Amino acid sequence: MSHTPSLHDLEQTDAFLRRHIGPDAAEQQAMLDALGVESLDALIGQTVPRTILREELLDIQGPRSEAEVLAYLKEIAGRNQIFTSCIGMGYHNTLTPTVILRNVLENPGWYTAYTPYQPEIAQGRLEALLNFQQVSIDLTGMELASASLLDEATAAAEAMALAKRVAKSKSNLFFVDHDCHPQTISVVRTRAEAFGFDLVVDDVSTLAKHDVFGALFQYPDTWGEIRDLKPLIDEVHSKQGLACVAADLLSLVLLTPPGELGADVVFGSAQRFGVPMGYGGPHAAFFATRDAYKRAMPGRIIGVSVDARGNRALRMALQTREQHIRREKANSNICTAQVLLANMASFYAVYHGPEGLRTIAERTHRLTSILAIGLEAAGFQRRNATFFDTLTLEVPGQARAIVERARAARINLRLIDGDSLGISLDESSTRTTVETLLAVFADEQPLQAIEVLDAKVAGKDVGIPAGLRRQSAFLTHPVFNSYHSETEMLRYIKSLENKDLALNHAMIPLGSCTMKLNATTEMIPVTWPEFGQIHPFVPLAQAEGYKVMIDELEEMLRQITGFDAICMQPNSGAQGEYAGLLAIRNFHEANGDEHRNVCLIPTSAHGTNPASAMMASMRVVLVGCDNQGNVDIADLRQKAEDNADNLSCLMITYPSTHGVYEEGIREICDIVHQHGGQVYMDGANLNAQVGLTRPADIGADVSHMNLHKTFCIPHGGGGPGMGPIGVRAHLAPYVANHPVVPLDGPNPENGAVSAAPWGSASILPISWTYIALMGAAGLRQATEVAILNANYLAKRLGEAYPILYSGANGRVAHECIIDIRPLKAASGISEEDVAKRLMDFGFHAPTMSFPVAGTLMIEPTESESKAELDRFVDAMLTIRNEISRVEQGEWSAEDNPLHHAPHTLADITGDWDRAYSRQQAVFPQPWVAANKFWPSVNRIDNVYGDRNLFCACPPIESYED
Ligand SMILES: *Cc1c(COP(=O)(O)O)cnc(C)c1O
Repeated sequence: MSHTPSLHDLEQTDAFLRRHIGPDAAEQQAMLDALGVESLDALIGQTVPRTILREELLDIQGPRSEAEVLAYLKEIAGRNQIFTSCIGMGYHNTLTPTVILRNVLENPGWYTAYTPYQPEIAQGRLEALLNFQQVSIDLTGMELASASLLDEATAAAEAMALAKRVAKSKSNLFFVDHDCHPQTISVVRTRAEAFGFDLVVDDVSTLAKHDVFGALFQYPDTWGEIRDLKPLIDEVHSKQGLACVAADLLSLVLLTPPGELGADVVFGSAQRFGVPMGYGGPHAAFFATRDAYKRAMPGRIIGVSVDARGNRALRMALQTREQHIRREKANSNICTAQVLLANMASFYAVYHGPEGLRTIAERTHRLTSILAIGLEAAGFQRRNATFFDTLTLEVPGQARAIVERARAARINLRLIDGDSLGISLDESSTRTTVETLLAVFADEQPLQAIEVLDAKVAGKDVGIPAGLRRQSAFLTHPVFNSYHSETEMLRYIKSLENKDLALNHAMIPLGSCTMKLNATTEMIPVTWPEFGQIHPFVPLAQAEGYKVMIDELEEMLRQITGFDAICMQPNSGAQGEYAGLLAIRNFHEANGDEHRNVCLIPTSAHGTNPASAMMASMRVVLVGCDNQGNVDIADLRQKAEDNADNLSCLMITYPSTHGVYEEGIREICDIVHQHGGQVYMDGANLNAQVGLTRPADIGADVSHMNLHKTFCIPHGGGGPGMGPIGVRAHLAPYVANHPVVPLDGPNPENGAVSAAPWGSASILPISWTYIALMGAAGLRQATEVAILNANYLAKRLGEAYPILYSGANGRVAHECIIDIRPLKAASGISEEDVAKRLMDFGFHAPTMSFPVAGTLMIEPTESESKAELDRFVDAMLTIRNEISRVEQGEWSAEDNPLHHAPHTLADITGDWDRAYSRQQAVFPQPWVAANKFWPSVNRIDNVYGDRNLFCACPPIESYED
């Protein structure tokens, strides 16, 4: 008898599941055997508390095949209509150089890397980010820049916060020019209310009346006007405040940089440097300031340091200002930022160079000038006397009709009101764009030819005030003047990629970061033009595809979390925390409980929790943990009682940051509710919940979901991310709204937390695709295997390293912490030595010293196969042996492979007089040689880099010796 498979078997609709989940059935069984449990169900029964474990599957379709899901999504995407968007307002069409599109944005070598916490295996993206800082410094005319913020509007809010930190003025008032973009004003207003700052949004003519700690201007302003900001900046300085300027990056190629006009902070969006609009994001914001304010800067800064051989090497500088160390005293809650997009923008500048950028800026400006003259000739009145690329036209009573006619020609204009409209041109604009626009305005009247109009503007300085033409050089460093052929560019990108370890080389077992598979099928839709080329403020009818996709994703996330509503606006986890805390705050306020401002936070919490609480002006009260890593319930009860009158909320991570499903979680939530508080669940660890339990069922009122962890958006080397929040119905009216695109659900008067209504919308298809491919059963299985993998690692590593915490039955959740402190006490070898030594094996270190100093937290995720886990264990056991040899005095504290790790080619090709062999240094196990990753520098000196802070590209002379 032959065993012919059924047609159903052959159809294999669950094939993706077996691609996403690393271990196959046999490997899973082998791991279960090693743990001494019969089945995955039995393991889950021992791990997840019965009180919260769900029996039934989620109400989510699937699994569906990759081909089917892509075809469906393509159909949805087809319902987005690609018009030429001349709306401006901080978003512009751009021509992504295809060499960057394919080799950076679409390249897992770039998009699957993590934040460069281990600089020796991250020199490539650190260099690209240093270039980004240099672009920001040169174009703004400032002294120092950071390596990206989330978007222009949140950067404005960060500028305001910086001003408050450093200004000599004791005023509590921040002034915002009303000619800034409306979304910027809204985000700044939200932040000012949260911080308790007074805000005045008005015409700059009223600035003199106010005592301010800072002021915000825009250059060119939202109507396109280029004003000499110097008198305004001087005015702010006379009040001992800081002058903050939102600037357009491309215009700065032609305009006097705000730094030369005296600005203290200059920021803006780098989107138009080659990053698609993507219906609002992701793109990088740049942020530049004076050297004197470097310690008050928000976000990450890349600095130059030296390695153990004295060679130049890059690292993230001044990390002690950040939320991981400073918690509620941090400069901001920024964690995930926009590394991938900052890298794209920096490569765009490298590829075009100063001359190429000048051509692009001059062309954009020339076409705008021609359009301006043509409209003038046709009798149209312009509001802005000066301009770079944006014209605001006074067209009494005609604005809607003209915008409609433009739309018929598939062009979007900015409808300001019935009497005025805006037009912004960009890099992609052509003669035809201008001709079409003139025809739209002329409405069948005869037109002057482009050539005739051009003759009128050629050779004249139209639009840009004479005193504000840029005189200073920019991008003079070799890197911006060397790679202008595609061959050279391709090799430059590749040379940097080669220095970085990403998921396409090996597992990245960073606890709390969930470095799972970012499947190719999930990534494909991101660069479809139907998603990329949509301006965030187009009429909703042009973005129907986005609406369908976002609605479906929201429904999926409601199912997964049990919440009633989802707010898609926050573009990182930390932004989600801030947005969720604001919803809680607004809720209390609406109930007449504005005094409720105490936020309970367990000591084990992620640093962003207290930093976000601070941004919502909450008073942080710490709750202790017991020696099993669980929240000390007695302490919690006490603190909740003590603060009952003023309790706002608890922020809690579940499973705990210690990697354990606390049995008492329901009781914890009850205690908080009994005392009038809300429960904020940090959803970063949702990968241990999906399909097994749900935050809302456990007792949470609000939670963020890091789509860049659990839901497969790649980390991009340190961003992008998306941190939407789910809320129960009673909080739904209090989440963020948007001033330009009003959202259904939240109260209309609510302000925005991000520049775009749905945050970084263009990466949402990744999470949508993942969930659609997996289906309810697949999602549950992924969680179960994540738990299996973690327990298998804990079991095998437990032979050599103490496992710090485990649950009631000795099981860990989706991650485990190994304790290096006893080994350090005995041998002097630290967790950092272990982390660096792992590089010699081709592995990225686990999370170091979080949430407990002197430990390593390992999260394998479901995507790693048993074979890969075994290799990792092999590496860790080899390292344990090496530690023993130091412990036993066989190797000295200074001469051993751990102390010298990581090893480079320079090490083994130079003189060698060490107590261990070259072989042992770089091929510590035979399998290492087959896929050797060479760290490009030796161990980097952290202290030197901070003492000698240098955050720009080294000058050409430094390359000579
Ligand atoms: C990653 C993480 C965050 C912050 O998320 P970002 O997107 O980096 O802002 C918050 N809490 C925990 C526990 C995390 O692991």
